[in-house]
Amino acid sequence: MEHSAAIHEDQIARLDILAESELRHSGFRLAFPQALETRYWRDIAAERLQELRFIGLCGVTGYFIFGILLNLIVILNPDWKSVAIQLVGSSLTVFAIIQLGLREKVATATREIALLACCLICSLAAILVVAAKPTPANLRDFLLAIPPASFVLIFVRLRFHQAVAFFLANLSVYALVLLDRPEINHSDAMFLIGFMTTLLSPALIGSHAFERALRRLYLHRLLDRLRNEKLAAQNAALTDLSYTDPLTSIANRRRLDEALAELIAAPASTGALLLIDIDRFKAFNDRYGHLAGDACLCHVAQCLSSHLRSFDLLARFGGEEFAVLLPETMLDEAARTAQRLREAVQNLRFEVQDQQVSVTISIGIAAREGLKTPEALIGAADTALYAAKHAGRNRVQVAATEPQAWKRMAV
Ligand code: GH3
Ligand code: MG
Ligand code: MG
Repeated sequence: MEHSAAIHEDQIARLDILAESELRHSGFRLAFPQALETRYWRDIAAERLQELRFIGLCGVTGYFIFGILLNLIVILNPDWKSVAIQLVGSSLTVFAIIQLGLREKVATATREIALLACCLICSLAAILVVAAKPTPANLRDFLLAIPPASFVLIFVRLRFHQAVAFFLANLSVYALVLLDRPEINHSDAMFLIGFMTTLLSPALIGSHAFERALRRLYLHRLLDRLRNEKLAAQNAALTDLSYTDPLTSIANRRRLDEALAELIAAPASTGALLLIDIDRFKAFNDRYGHLAGDACLCHVAQCLSSHLRSFDLLARFGGEEFAVLLPETMLDEAARTAQRLREAVQNLRFEVQDQQVSVTISIGIAAREGLKTPEALIGAADTALYAAKHAGRNRVQVAATEPQAWKRMAV
């Protein structure tokens, strides 16, 4: 648990440094170092998928409307058959690609390629429809093959390197088509290619600036998030610390008090409290010294903890006293647990000044049933503990429901 928390903190620290340095040194490069790039794509995946769907559907609708308007307004007498082939054919193909490619289980990189494919289908359809026209075709027809590519670059937010690929693909197909047409002379071809380049370049530059701005925005957001994560981790560590006894590393009195309050507030009346006291511990300290006494407290805490269930709470009650809260436990089961703990400590051997030593404990038990406050529960267990001491130590005593009616369990 602690180990994975440390790894997590380490990852946060590394990402923080990477993001800071990217923000400081950011040039025109549109890629983060590997660890950051991976996190970037993971973090934006859901948002980008939504955006791709939106772009895909709006883009194709806009392309369709734009295509019809272009033919109606600019080409006053369009060839509606080729318009239909271009617009309907490419739009249907794009819808199919969106349905197949823009889904959650499709890999992020594949989705981006699907979007690029949609864009290429729409823009190249316009060029290929002109290319299919019988010779001699009108220069204006060739000019009108350019706007769809420009439309795509402006309205569809392709990633920059894909925008470059899109630009080069359109330019080369366009150049090949022009060179293939005998009616287009060299200077007209150069004019048309130059025109396409001039029209598409600003969109290309815009695509770079846009992606760079988005990446920088992401870095700021990431830094905020990482700082919040770090604060949350520090808060959790502080909370842990405030509930832990520094000597034995088990729960402290604060944690016990909260758990007792919860137990009393719970509707079920099951549960029990054990109060444990090391016998003649003052003598142990006097004989071996306080440091050995501290080590003894740690050994006993460790021993008790290893004989409890994961949901039982072992806490240091104070000095050489421990408390065990046994939730969902009836009195007879609590008494068996107490006996097990007493025997375990009795059998525990640890080394002090090259000698094997041991200690014993006395335990007082109180059941939660019928008790209305944490103080009443502690009081009952404490009185039982006192009785166990009085009866000779190294024993377990159950709190009687009637005052002074003690039920001794065993030695
Ligand atoms: P009894 O069997 O009646 O419980 O006798 P006792 O000697 O254990 O009880 P007493 O209350 O007289 O002594 C408790 C001792 O526990 C006194 C104190 O010095 C010691 N003690 C309390 N807290 C610590 C601690 O954190 N470290 C060490 N080394 N000793 C502690
Ligand atoms: Mg004591
Ligand atoms: Mg004691």
